[in-house]
Amino acid sequence: MRKKAMTIYLDYHASTPCDPSVVEAMLPYFLERFANPSSTVHKAGQRTANAVSAARQTVGDAIGALPAEIVFTAGATESNNLALQGLARAAPSDRRRIVSSVIEHKSVLQTLMFLQPQGFDVVLVPVDGEGSIDLAALVDAVDDTTAFVSVQAASNEIGTIQPLEEISQIAHRSGAAFHSDAAQAMGRIPIDVGAWGVDLMSLSGHKCYGPKGVGCLYVRGGVRAAPMDPLLFGGGQEGGLRPGTHNVPGIVGLAKAVEIATESRETETERIGVLRDRFEQLIAEQFPAVRRNGCVRRRLAGNSSLTFSGVDAEALIANLSDIAVSTGSACSSGAIDPSHVLTAIGLSREEAHETIRVGLGRFTMEGEVLTAAAGIAEAAKSVLQASCPETAGAG
Ligand SMILES: *Cc1c(COP(=O)(O)O)cnc(C)c1O
Repeated sequence: MRKKAMTIYLDYHASTPCDPSVVEAMLPYFLERFANPSSTVHKAGQRTANAVSAARQTVGDAIGALPAEIVFTAGATESNNLALQGLARAAPSDRRRIVSSVIEHKSVLQTLMFLQPQGFDVVLVPVDGEGSIDLAALVDAVDDTTAFVSVQAASNEIGTIQPLEEISQIAHRSGAAFHSDAAQAMGRIPIDVGAWGVDLMSLSGHKCYGPKGVGCLYVRGGVRAAPMDPLLFGGGQEGGLRPGTHNVPGIVGLAKAVEIATESRETETERIGVLRDRFEQLIAEQFPAVRRNGCVRRRLAGNSSLTFSGVDAEALIANLSDIAVSTGSACSSGAIDPSHVLTAIGLSREEAHETIRVGLGRFTMEGEVLTAAAGIAEAAKSVLQASCPETAGAG
């Protein structure tokens, strides 16, 4: 029998595997400690309530927040929706403007498109060729009618890290609140809600080696003082801001993942950065016409967004055997439209369709990087060769 080769997984921006320690921490909460943490009349419920409290403390400590400022949700999509819809509904009538950026995740952009016809003036600020927000345009966009500003911490497509300290100052100068989608930041860059000046911030479990379907929203000043309305009703959990029985195993797993991410961030990002640079160098040696997207100075260590001139990315990926990489954004793959992030940094539709997104992570090994670089460069060359006669004929 032939042994099936293991997939080389290089799509860590789309999702990360659970760290084994995370699974281990979660297991008792499925089997033995399953009591509802709101049922504190009995010991079993008190025990799970304590586990949720401990998790809240751990997540708060990791980002410089108080436990009371953490709202557990079902992931960053929900956190973004809660933050944006919540703030919009609670906004005073003389603050109907919302300012964000053109390269946000769809869970931010589509929420804003939902709010726009409800009387909100949504302004999306452009970015430069490296994906950094245009601060001068942001200054122009934010005024004293602005309810809030929402800008991501780092891009899931091109890895660009935004200058959140400066963005929060611009927002606060006009009395606007500041939200950031930091799903890609946990474990990859240091997070400090005080230094960043965020009033609300979204995190996701499965982007930092925790489980899927759990995340949190940081709310400055605490849940009970939150300047916003809930999306859901029907219980007192999370101060009423996010009712529903707590996902105890998920919350415990999220906290364990955040704890590991905080401890290992520095050594991990250094190792991954070296591997990523090696990967890009190997590709460039084999395929000199490759172009690297994103910001050279401020980019996530595991991110590599590459444009192969003249090579259709779908065809390239179809030529790879057992290497998991993505075209542009995973969320919009299957769609014909090119990635809105790639077009926002100035790529043509054609160039966007010639782009792959590679994400290295905790369990990426050097050997995998070497194999993947060789395989991707080889596939790019063979796709280019196959399409050359056609191009010559058409020309
Ligand atoms: C993955 C991701 C999300 C969505 O998170 P879920 O927990 O999967 O809902 C939002 N924003 C960014 C930047 C992401 O990378």
